[in-house]
Amino acid sequence: MITPAQTQTLLAAIIFIAGMAALVWVALALVARIAPRASLAMACANGAAAVALLLHALRGVLPDALAYWPGDVLAVASFALLGAAVPGITTRQLVWKPGAAVVAATALLLLALPYDGDLRWQARVVNTVGAGLTLAAGIAAWRGLGRTAKGHRTPAPLALPLIFIALMMAARCVESFIQPGSTPDLREPTEFNHVFLWTALVLTLLQNATLAFLVMMRLILRIERLLERDPLTDTLNRRAFDQALEHAHAWLQRGRGYALVMIDMDRFKQLNDTLGHAAGDAALRQMVRELQPCVREVDRFGRLGGEEFGVLLPDTDIAGAALVAERMRALVDMTPLRWLEQDWPLSASFGIAEAERGDASADAVLARADAAMYRAKSQGRNVVQA
Ligand code: GH3
Ligand code: MG
Ligand code: MG
Repeated sequence: MITPAQTQTLLAAIIFIAGMAALVWVALALVARIAPRASLAMACANGAAAVALLLHALRGVLPDALAYWPGDVLAVASFALLGAAVPGITTRQLVWKPGAAVVAATALLLLALPYDGDLRWQARVVNTVGAGLTLAAGIAAWRGLGRTAKGHRTPAPLALPLIFIALMMAARCVESFIQPGSTPDLREPTEFNHVFLWTALVLTLLQNATLAFLVMMRLILRIERLLERDPLTDTLNRRAFDQALEHAHAWLQRGRGYALVMIDMDRFKQLNDTLGHAAGDAALRQMVRELQPCVREVDRFGRLGGEEFGVLLPDTDIAGAALVAERMRALVDMTPLRWLEQDWPLSASFGIAEAERGDASADAVLARADAAMYRAKSQGRNVVQA
């Protein structure tokens, strides 16, 4: 036999968990500032769910005008907020308008239903709309997870708790039609309520945990990016470029070659001394922007220091590298730096080298490309040398 104390305890536990989850999400949003808007939406979703369930638990104690219609609307709003937060977590774009429209329509519909003795229709509306909103969120999560970031595929089954919540609410709606003893009151000690509340408790925990995990993944990706990028130009920093180089060199023994392009801007000191350091920085950024389209997905573009850059070209021989470098040289040469209504000509010198089986390490290849680059300088700059 299930006792009223059991269902009430379960209800209290869910309210407590949702309330605590709301606080954790607020902390993530405001203190840690990870995905702040999506985290705030999650905080509101959990807060609304906690208050809605609290109002439900206090039906008969609180005034009816407070405990019934506002509680039902809040319950629907909590699912809409969940639906808004999920795309915010996976793609940074909060999608809140469809959910808000659904909540408004449901609020009006519930207003039209009389809140007297039999509340089954209200419960059916809340559960059906809640199931629909959560299912939509689950599908959005499933689709969004695959493309959280390149190289980091989050398994789509992380969306499963949302889909199970939707199924659970749909089941509640179906039960109200087929089961004579069904009740819209969660506190009634029925078998169905008991199972429903246990499932709700576990899923509330799981769904918060999986979404929090996704937010953490985003944080980790951001940190990884900070660790491997040069802040001025957003190319790979020296450390990350060296790592990529070592990786490519390891492949050399297994038959996959690579080529290197070294780039050094011409007379950069003169630019800095005449127009100032800020102009120099702008020139660096402009050059990187111009060269990005020449860099394939598999290539690695890094800043080796100062105004020197390197491009690692896997599966490329010296002829291929020469083509890329010549295209890059022409691009840099084509556009001057526009600074304070004045044009300053930009150019760069290029050295290229191809890895050979005999190269003990990537440093040997780097040294050859560097030597070639210095020959380009001595030949009057703005040329490519192999
Ligand atoms: P060359 O044509 O022979 O390459 O002459 P250069 O002036 O470019 O050669 P050099 O390597 O002597 O000068 C590099 C200058 O780049 C020195 C430094 O003032 C400047 N520089 C290095 N890092 C930065 C940076 O992050 N921002 C700016 N604005 N300037 C930098
Ligand atoms: Mg230099
Ligand atoms: Mg230079």
